[in-house]
Parts: sequence; structure tokens; C-alpha cells
Amino acid sequence: MSITVWQALEAGGRLEPATRPMLEPAADELVLEVLHCGLCHSDLSMLDNQWGMSNYPLVPGHEVVGRVVQVGTGVNPDLIGQLRGLGWISGSCSHCPQCLGGSGNLCASLEATIVGRQGGFSSHVTARQDWAIPLPAGMDPAAAGPLFCGGITVFAPLVDEAVSPTAHVAVIGIGGLGHMALQFARAWGCEVTALTTNLSKAEEARRFGAHHVEALERLAHLPGRFDLVINTVNHPLQWGDVMASLAPRGRLHQLGAVLDPIQVGAFDLIMGRRSITGSPTSSPASLLKMVDFCVRHNIRPEVEHLPMDRINDAIARLRQGDVRYRFVLDQT
Ligand SMILES: [Zn+2]
Ligand SMILES: [Zn+2]
Repeated sequence: MSITVWQALEAGGRLEPATRPMLEPAADELVLEVLHCGLCHSDLSMLDNQWGMSNYPLVPGHEVVGRVVQVGTGVNPDLIGQLRGLGWISGSCSHCPQCLGGSGNLCASLEATIVGRQGGFSSHVTARQDWAIPLPAGMDPAAAGPLFCGGITVFAPLVDEAVSPTAHVAVIGIGGLGHMALQFARAWGCEVTALTTNLSKAEEARRFGAHHVEALERLAHLPGRFDLVINTVNHPLQWGDVMASLAPRGRLHQLGAVLDPIQVGAFDLIMGRRSITGSPTSSPASLLKMVDFCVRHNIRPEVEHLPMDRINDAIARLRQGDVRYRFVLDQT
């Protein structure tokens, strides 16, 4: 028995179909048959080797919804048939202080789904059972994939930092991450402001939960306004304006992987005791909380479906920002 993968042979290359031997689950691992896989901006970064850690042939895809078809030793065989979601992380050591403390996403021996493994633009993937999250009843498997990378990335700054529902939260960027951040922050109880360079998205931002929509360049006119700014944008901003928009004890939480340094003045931090944080997805415990929260509040990614064999079209369109708001590739 063999599996199918969509692989790039070199940086920036097209994904071409190929056949590989069937995956063997290691101890504590599951094999998922991929049903749907979202396309995340990090797939493009990895495809282009922007972060210097890509190995070719590279099979991207790390927003997987799949069915358990095989289990390794130490895994309950009753799990076969279950639907599970898998994001950026597919394994951690389980024994270090971070893993034992419930922060497995900070483990030094993380295994990423598309680094050293083959990702979800394929017929099958493997993952440690802890990192493949059971889909709760009431969750639509066809739209759920983007929750497991984009979704948890924007849910983490709320759940892991115990943000108060009285907080005023701004979300910069109404794209794949931002449209989910608006839904989460609204359901969390916060006052939510969407900041965008594209005001044609204003109506949709309100539909996702924004109480207010502002042009990004208006940030300089909103001093002291926000307790939390979630920045999903991966290019440089007027960082001084962003910091000045924070209320006392306010926090800029950076999620967009901007490659240039974030330059702020010391007084931006000192006055008002402001801070800058960031986070890499989150732990399995927070993923479990997220999927429950999504079902309770009817939070779902807005997705455009394409069949898996049109993955190169999806990549080309994402490069141009031409998607509202996430592609999901479906196994045919
Ligand atoms: Zn991602
Ligand atoms: Zn660990």
C-alpha cells in the first residue's frame, strides 16, 4: 500500500504529485487519512525556505482534518475511525518542564508537521496522539482545518494570557488569522476594533464581530485606546503609533512573522508599563479548549474549497492575497 503526496523539489517550486510507501506510526503516534487541509501563510514561507529550515522534497500543509486509520504501540485502537485535527506541531517530548507544565508548544524538542515530516497536502500524515485533537460533535470537519494553526494562533493570546472580557482588543489585519481573531475576541466578551488597510473589508469585519473598524493609518489618532493589540500582519508597521495606541499595562501581541526587527523606544515600554509579547500556536490543552469554545459560540473559519489537485492554484492566489479568508484543499 502506498500514499500520495504533493511535493516541491526545490525552494519556490510547484507542488507535484508523487507516491511514497505507506507511513508506519511510531509509538504513541496515529496515522490520519487526510480529508481536508487548510493553506496557511507559513506553508508559503516554508515552500520558499524563508526561515532557512526547509528540506526538499517538501510537502506543506499543516491545517489537517483527517480520520484515524492506524495507531502505533501505546495508542488505544478504539481511536480508529475518529476525526482529528492537526496543526503546526505534531509532537513534543512529553517529559521536559514545558511539556509537563502544560506548555508543550514551548518544548525544545518540538516536532513540526512540515519539518522532518510530510505535511497534509497528501493522502496520509502521522502525529503524536496528544497533538491530534478530536473534533467535537457539532464541528464541521470541512471548515475546521484552519482552526488548528491559524485559529489557535489567535486564540492563544486570549486564553493563555487570561485576557479579561472587559478588555478593549484591536486586531490588525483582516485576513486568514484576523477574521478568526475577531470572532474569538467578540465571543470572549471584549470590545473589538478591526484595523485594516482595506476598508472594503469593513462590513465583513463587523460580521466577524468587530464593534469598530478603523483604517490602519488612523492608529496614530487612537492613543491609549487598547488593552491588547493582536497584530497578524507580517510587514513592518509604524511601531511607535502601535505602542501609543496601548492603554496603561497594554500589550502588543505579535503573530505576523515580520522579518525586520520591531523597533520601539524605551519610553514606549516604560511609560504606562506597556509590553510586547508573541506566541507560537499553543498547547494541546488550549487546542481542546478552543474547539469547545468554537462549537459553543458558532465560530468557524470562512473558507474557499478547492480539490487537492488544484493546490498550485491556491498557492498562486494566496501569494496575491486573493482569498477570503482561507483555502481548504479537499481530498477527492
Ligand atoms: Zn500555519
Ligand atoms: Zn518537551
